[in-house]
Amino acid sequence: MKHKYRIFKQLQIFLFLSLNISGLAQSVNISLYNDNNLQSVLISPVSSPFGVTFDNSINMVVKPGDTIYLSVNGDFLEVKMLNGSHRTCREFRMTGIDNDATYKVNPVIPVLEEREYDGDFVASFDINRILLVNHIQIDRYLAGVVLTEGGPGRLPEYYKTQAILCRTYLLKHINKHSGEGFNLCDDVHCQAYKTRGSQNKRIIKAINETSGLVIVDRNSELITTAYHSNCGGQTSNSDDVWLKYYPYLKSISDPNCSRGNNGKWRETISVEQWLNYIRENGYKGNIANPVSFKFSQPVRKTHYWIDDFSLPLKKIRNDWDLKSSFFNIDLEDNQLVFNGKGYGHGVGLCQEGAMEMAYQGKNYRQIIGFYYQDVKIKKF
Ligand SMILES: [Zn+2]
Ligand SMILES: [Zn+2]
Repeated sequence: MKHKYRIFKQLQIFLFLSLNISGLAQSVNISLYNDNNLQSVLISPVSSPFGVTFDNSINMVVKPGDTIYLSVNGDFLEVKMLNGSHRTCREFRMTGIDNDATYKVNPVIPVLEEREYDGDFVASFDINRILLVNHIQIDRYLAGVVLTEGGPGRLPEYYKTQAILCRTYLLKHINKHSGEGFNLCDDVHCQAYKTRGSQNKRIIKAINETSGLVIVDRNSELITTAYHSNCGGQTSNSDDVWLKYYPYLKSISDPNCSRGNNGKWRETISVEQWLNYIRENGYKGNIANPVSFKFSQPVRKTHYWIDDFSLPLKKIRNDWDLKSSFFNIDLEDNQLVFNGKGYGHGVGLCQEGAMEMAYQGKNYRQIIGFYYQDVKIKKF
């Protein structure tokens, strides 16, 4: 009997260690609401209880229905519980009692949308704000990113494609914020991560079926996985948009995205507004006829030209907040009409084109191979 108990105990210790080791290796720290300078926030467990610690010392349990109010108080964090008790600390930690524990975060100052997350979190005081870091298994983090970046209701091969892109980004940039005490932020500066994703079975399946897969270039380096909503029928060269050349981010023509939601756009600007704008940017000529403003891009160009004056299209896109730099300028009723194609910078994978390829029955290898040149998909 004793012998059996010893074996059971050894097995328990082994399982505990191996779970912990793999758990450590497979987790990341993501700063939530990173761009929002959080001053106070409400946190509530959703499905299961959480263990709570203040500065690693006092332990207690909070249950679904409980709400915790965190706020900045001087150089400390003030933690108020619903029952009226409150403490100040430097670090407040909530750890799920089981693997499926989720919690809601509801920023009060500033007022922001409520979001739900998987995993644990640590809140700490960080130069006049609350630093809220989600400690989460990589696959669950990826599920949240794939759902945020790809949206709900997509086909499996599209989700597998997006999962491989997001995993490649994560592993390439795992130290992007390491000096600030976390791996990545939750905004487009890194990858948008605005929700939990583990409730979406199709995404979880796509992540499991592409487990560990990443995209590498011909030198076996992780690639820069640029993507955008819709290329308008032709993707951009990375060096035309970012002045940085990557052999796998080359312009290709894309027949797949013309029927996408972001395939076309239209914007009207008056002749006078446009003349003022180009004059502010150095145009010295005289316009006798606004027909001279017309411009066309049967294929992507890098600059807008009138006579010997030119302006980079990406600057025009930026200054006028246009959906893309892939537009023609036409003259209608004495107004300039920008007839545009696509949405986004146009570099790398076109998401609406990739969705269409998935509808046509293409698999993730074919989709990735179409948008990124001369790359390989391999196990990290
Ligand atoms: Zn970031
Ligand atoms: Zn496209």
